[in-house]
Amino acid sequence: MNFELTSEQKEIRNMVSKFVKNEIIPVAGEYDEHGIFPKEQFKKAWELGLINTCIAPEYGGAGFSEVESVIIGEEVAYGCMGINTSFMANDLALLPIAIAGTHEQKEKFLKPFTQRFKIASFCLTEPSNGSDAAGIKTTIKDGGDHWIINGEKMWITNAGHADLFVLYGTIDPELKHKGISAVVIPADTEGIHLGKKEDKMGHRSSDTRGIRFENVKVPKDHMLGAPGEGWSIAMKTLDHSRPLVAASAVGGAKRALDESVKYSKERKQFGVSIAKHQGVSFMLADMAMKVEASRLLTYKAASLLDAGQRNTEIASYAKAFAADSCMQIATDAVQIYGGYGYSKEYPVEKIMRDAKLIQIYEGTSQIQRLVIARELLNK
Ligand SMILES: Cc1cc2nc3c(=O)[nH]c(=O)nc-3n(C[C@H](O)[C@H](O)[C@H](O)COP(=O)(O)OP(=O)(O)OC[C@H]3O[C@@H](n4cnc5c(N)ncnc54)[C@H](O)[C@@H]3O)c2cc1C
Repeated sequence: MNFELTSEQKEIRNMVSKFVKNEIIPVAGEYDEHGIFPKEQFKKAWELGLINTCIAPEYGGAGFSEVESVIIGEEVAYGCMGINTSFMANDLALLPIAIAGTHEQKEKFLKPFTQRFKIASFCLTEPSNGSDAAGIKTTIKDGGDHWIINGEKMWITNAGHADLFVLYGTIDPELKHKGISAVVIPADTEGIHLGKKEDKMGHRSSDTRGIRFENVKVPKDHMLGAPGEGWSIAMKTLDHSRPLVAASAVGGAKRALDESVKYSKERKQFGVSIAKHQGVSFMLADMAMKVEASRLLTYKAASLLDAGQRNTEIASYAKAFAADSCMQIATDAVQIYGGYGYSKEYPVEKIMRDAKLIQIYEGTSQIQRLVIARELLNK
């Protein structure tokens, strides 16, 4: 067992950290305030090979391992969890193709993402079905030489800028998870109606919308796997994406910790820096322990995938623990800043708003516990 990153991994971390310091941190506050989509930063990150890390070198990808992908995610989220959400959503959308696509589908859908800057969205959630994803109502009907898609999706990240949608629907709602199927839909296909950009508490630079699909037609070869295989594809996708979300939580939490350490050494009350008060320093100690434990779980969830092993249970440990810790750490950071923590002038207020979403998307913290309990009880 080796807890050290390789020299190559350290180099990747340093390169991303430099990019984040120069390109993301300076704009994060303004983009959050005005809800500006980080297209310029997205494109620069793509040029550095930091986007679409799930694409294999065979199809033009940079060839990063899962561990390297979470290292990148942590660093980007250190700069801004919201901007990281936009970046990460591309991988979330392309993962089903990387996992279940045929060679021809990977050539057709993945390769263009490595040749030109393009954006993708993952469309699973619906207005009436979030946690209960097996109950989705969007239909995928056989139209002879094509599929016909009808339904509504909700909370779709990157929707307003996407070139490609990967959508989950059902061939028959009565079949529940056995009817779920996945199709790839180019964004210029007729019948796609985008909803308004949601006005969110946090991750305000990411573009989130509902989408209505009305008699949308795609060729038969746009289905990933066979009809009814979509549920298994979605679950495998989440095994890969949950460590990435956990990494985002680690990045946000580490930033909150660093800002708190700095501030608590500068701010004086009762004649000494507040860090000298044990009540504050113990909060910092708890924050540091949680950051490290979250990171180790995240690395473990990612390295199991690199070793070709099933990681469902550990991915849920990492996602739930890192998300809940990030929320706690961000709240404590605001506490350490006192009244100033409650002001938009200091960075911890935004981190607290951003942290909340990590406990909600890609399976809430309750759903992670449901997955863990199911895995434990079915052993
Ligand atoms: C900003 C943002 C971006 C998003 N991006 C995407 C995206 O790109 N693509 C996409 O498909 N989706 C996306 N989502 C959707 C997200 O994954 C869902 O919001 C999430 O899965 C929760 O679903 P819900 O909102 O319908 O809540 P619900 O499922 O209605 O849950 C409400 C509450 O009930 C609890 N609950 C539900 N069932 C159980 C249970 N069995 N046991 C215990 N508690 C339970 C939940 O934990 C939660 O606290 C995004 C959401 C947001 C807010």
